[in-house]
Amino acid sequence: MAVAISVAAVCLILGAKWFLQSGYRLAECTFHEATGGWCPACGNTRCVRALLEGDIALALRSNITIPFLIGLIIALYIENLLALAGRKIHILTRRRIVWYLVLVFFFIYYIARNFIPAIAPL
Ligand SMILES: [Zn+2]
Repeated sequence: MAVAISVAAVCLILGAKWFLQSGYRLAECTFHEATGGWCPACGNTRCVRALLEGDIALALRSNITIPFLIGLIIALYIENLLALAGRKIHILTRRRIVWYLVLVFFFIYYIARNFIPAIAPL
C-alpha cells in the first residue's frame, strides 16, 4: 500500500509539472468558442492550474466544481478512515434534501456565471 501511494504521489507530481508547463497546448472549450458562453466545465483547467500553483482564490474564481469535489473526496476519505478506526462519524450530511439543494446550487451557478461577470471564469 505504501509503495502504491508513493508511486501515485510521484505520478501526481510529474503530472502536475507537465500540466503546468503545457497549459497553453490544452484545447479551448468548443462551446465557449462557438457561443461565447461558459459551459459547466469552463474554467476547470484554470482551476486545476491555480490549485497546483497554490492560488485558492483564483481556483474558486475559475470554477468551484473541482474545489467542491476535492473537499467532498477528502471528507469521504476521513469518514472512511474513522470507520476503519471503529468510529462511525458522518462529516457529510446524509439528508437527501441537502444534496438536492447542492445540485440546484450548481445548476444555478453554471447558468448565472454566464450573466454575472463577478462569478464568470477569469
Ligand atoms: Zn466550456
